[in-house]
Amino acid sequence: MKRIVNIEDISDGRTYDANDMVKLGVEDCNGCHACCCGTGETLNLDPYDIYRLEAGLGLDFRQLFAGHLELRVADGVIMPFLRMDKELTVTHGELKVTEKEACTFLNENGRCSIHDHRPAICRLFPLGRLYEESGHKYILMENECHKERRIKIKIKKWLETPDFSKYDAYIDTWHGFITGITDRAAAMPEEELKSINKAILENFYFTDYDVNRDFYGQFQERMKNVSH
Ligand code: SF4
Ligand code: SF4
Repeated sequence: MKRIVNIEDISDGRTYDANDMVKLGVEDCNGCHACCCGTGETLNLDPYDIYRLEAGLGLDFRQLFAGHLELRVADGVIMPFLRMDKELTVTHGELKVTEKEACTFLNENGRCSIHDHRPAICRLFPLGRLYEESGHKYILMENECHKERRIKIKIKKWLETPDFSKYDAYIDTWHGFITGITDRAAAMPEEELKSINKAILENFYFTDYDVNRDFYGQFQERMKNVSH
């Protein structure tokens, strides 16, 4: 999702590469679940997130969608987002907090019940991506995370993503593809945009991935389907 902001306003003003050490580690968020509630409009999922959730949870897209996702429009493109409409009482030691807009994957201990399979946007936080002509860098949105004491960790390790260089290249391809549509969406005839959205949803989301196969080959096949 495109955000036009001044980097200095949302970050420490620096940009980072995947090999940089950044103050990110929060000891498993112990006692905090702030970014898992009421942030639904920011948590959109890309095809690799869906593959990872399907593989990790043993669910197909329709099952995932029925229990945990919703479709939203971002800059003209329809995509799945994490649903945040669960009412939940979270207990942290002596403290009990009732949340009305919790992620459906948050449990009553304030922990993510799908930690190993959580979407990229959750794995990234409190990092964001800054896209440039030649790829992307990372920014640290240091005021977004409620923990003040964080330990340094290499970004690549923080992201907990196998085949990192393939993943990095995929992120740029996907971003370029979606940006190519969002940049034109406002001026596009309604029927054309509708048909593009239908093709994106069918190809990259509603058609289940073969979780016994590598993701990236399947992604390239699906890109060919929508690129002619
Ligand atoms: S705000 Fe920071 S410490 Fe709190 S849940 Fe999110 S990442 Fe963890
Ligand atoms: S998937 Fe997990 S980490 Fe992400 S918002 Fe939901 S509970 Fe939080």
